[in-house]
Amino acid sequence: MATTDRPRLRFRALRKSFVKAAPAQTPKDSLVSVCEKQIDTSSSASEAGVLSEDVSTSIILPKEQLSVLTPVVGPTLNLHITKVAVTPPKPGEVVVRIAWTGLCGSDPSFCVGPQPGFASHNHIAGHEGIGHIVASHDPSLVNRPVAARYLTYSCQECGYCLRGLPESCPRQLAFPKDLNGTFQHYITVPRHSVIQLPEYVFARDSPIHPSMYAAALCSGSAALKALRAAQLRPQAVIVVFGIAGSIGHLVGLMAKHIYGAKVIGVDVASKAGERMVKTGDVCARFLPAPRHPEQEKAFQQSILKLCEELRGHTNVLTGADSAIVCANRVSAFNNLTSYVCDGASIIIVGWKYRFVPH
Ligand SMILES: [Zn+2]
Ligand SMILES: [Zn+2]
Repeated sequence: MATTDRPRLRFRALRKSFVKAAPAQTPKDSLVSVCEKQIDTSSSASEAGVLSEDVSTSIILPKEQLSVLTPVVGPTLNLHITKVAVTPPKPGEVVVRIAWTGLCGSDPSFCVGPQPGFASHNHIAGHEGIGHIVASHDPSLVNRPVAARYLTYSCQECGYCLRGLPESCPRQLAFPKDLNGTFQHYITVPRHSVIQLPEYVFARDSPIHPSMYAAALCSGSAALKALRAAQLRPQAVIVVFGIAGSIGHLVGLMAKHIYGAKVIGVDVASKAGERMVKTGDVCARFLPAPRHPEQEKAFQQSILKLCEELRGHTNVLTGADSAIVCANRVSAFNNLTSYVCDGASIIIVGWKYRFVPH
């Protein structure tokens, strides 16, 4: 049973960030000190991991666990692998043992700032986690496979929700903004903040490794949503800006393998790996992004020429059927209308605060 596996957290990439991180600052109202009090099991705090009798469990919950904590949200990334208490569930809550968690590009963003509405000091990031419910007051929930993704609640009433953009809902609740995230072994959260997964995600004979589903929770779903919004027709030619990023390369893969599209990928030249450029797996053609404004005219002509080539020189359309922007450089948003044909779609994936000129 997957539920008896040891929890496996993938901290390798995070450690890389950790090594580069600036020395920790002293948190003012430190969760660390709160947790240390809870972890001090020689005193009355020893009940931190003790469950009331009406909690059902599939394992013996430990009293403490390791987590990756951001003590201070500030201009430098500071992460600490820290012991924190495992919190027993209250009625309406579940404890999920995280089996796999992705590391999203947004996680470091949540750890620096502050940005309005983002996580504050002493939070645990991570919003691409999958695992099993291991403790709950409702015994029917125990052992269910679930996922913790960024958005846990949206109002379904505001203008954004009604336009199909719950990610922009001003009343949203999210990991790790409102709930400590998946960079820990056990999360204790409201039942409705996690979504149920099909059993096959953890099937031992599945050809798809369960960790793959973690990526689908954020960058994968963003990529798919962008492609659906683009409403591509078969054999469409599209331009993806930021093709080497986590969302961009998934847009390229899905566009080719699911939609049968021909993809022109754009990114800074240093990000284009051998596999991306030579195998055509992610994009049929790769173009380095212009580095200076005076290069933009030649870049535009290259895009139009590649579109013509990928259409087999047999189509009257000039330019791409769609431009999908997955990059966060302001320059990636320049001249978008000049790369596409009449009736094309331009899809922008990202946060508007990144549009601030600099
Ligand atoms: Zn994410
Ligand atoms: Zn809303």
